[in-house]
Amino acid sequence: MKPAPFEYFDPRSLPEALDLLATYGVEGKVLAGGQSLLPLLYLRLATPPYLIDINRVADLGTLHVEDGTLCIGATVRQRAVERDPTVRAGWPLIPEALRWVGHAAIRTRGTFCGSLAHADPSAELPAVVVALDGELRLASAAGERTVPAADFFVTYLTTVLEPTELLVEVRLPPPPPCSGHAFVEVARRHGDFALAGLACLLALEADGRHIAAVRLAFTGVGGTPLRAHAAEKALVGEVASPALFARAGELAQAAAEPDSDLHASAEYRRHLVGVLARRGLAQAHARAAALRGGSPAG
Ligand SMILES: Cc1cc2nc3c(=O)[nH]c(=O)nc-3n(C[C@H](O)[C@H](O)[C@H](O)COP(=O)(O)OP(=O)(O)OC[C@H]3O[C@@H](n4cnc5c(N)ncnc54)[C@H](O)[C@@H]3O)c2cc1C
Repeated sequence: MKPAPFEYFDPRSLPEALDLLATYGVEGKVLAGGQSLLPLLYLRLATPPYLIDINRVADLGTLHVEDGTLCIGATVRQRAVERDPTVRAGWPLIPEALRWVGHAAIRTRGTFCGSLAHADPSAELPAVVVALDGELRLASAAGERTVPAADFFVTYLTTVLEPTELLVEVRLPPPPPCSGHAFVEVARRHGDFALAGLACLLALEADGRHIAAVRLAFTGVGGTPLRAHAAEKALVGEVASPALFARAGELAQAAAEPDSDLHASAEYRRHLVGVLARRGLAQAHARAAALRGGSPAG
């Protein structure tokens, strides 16, 4: 099927793009990598009369570090982030998660920010930015605001973005010092959206035994990424062990509110939360222990 007719705009500057959004945003759509929007247009599940293509807007395509914070502009492709040496060295959770996002061809076109704006409840990157305590810069013709990642996602395919706003950049502070990372996921086939996934960071005290900091952000187990705060609290200050990780998994399961759908039942997804917690924590802990010169939890 062909998309319904639309008027196409191709702004070259941010003010021009924001003016177009102020005029047409309520009825229209921003076009970034098109990897989620174009299928919706071709299936006529979305029929916006206006498309505002941001791909030629100057200055939205930069990936850089500012005062230790990783800044990813609106048109930076997922593949560029995945391959960037600075990201791989300082934010290794991101490339590990990106390997799970579709396939290389999709990541070559799809943008990092587009995945956040689209807010698919089974997408990997929303969980990653929540785990990293990221912030999102939103701009409109009326001004700019910054929203913590934890507050950005509202429910299925819905964020706090107003129709006249553009997500111009995501800012990701460095992970806790000496932290190990893990992105673990269960999907039916490689490249499919997650049935459930977990972005995990774990740092050890200098003694190499006690847990100094931990972040657990799940995807696929509710309308938004789930930050498992009770499980995190139960881990910090404790000596890492498989039994402790299993207990954290139970606490995360209690916090999850997954739905049943075509792909998996809510019960199975809840089961996966426990499995992924144990798996992700063990992997992140082994990496953290290696950084401290120790050995995995016994
Ligand atoms: C076959 C296939 C498999 C896939 N598998 C996965 C997967 O396993 N995991 C996964 O996470 N994703 C997957 N995707 C989706 C992919 O990651 C998309 O690239 C991503 O979700 C959207 O990014 P985009 O740049 O393509 O955005 P677009 O498709 O251009 O836009 C998506 C939505 O976000 C809005 N938008 C985009 N950018 C902005 C912005 N800067 N400000 C405001 N609104 C904006 C658009 O208006 C639109 O509503 C898959 C896609 C395909 C086609």
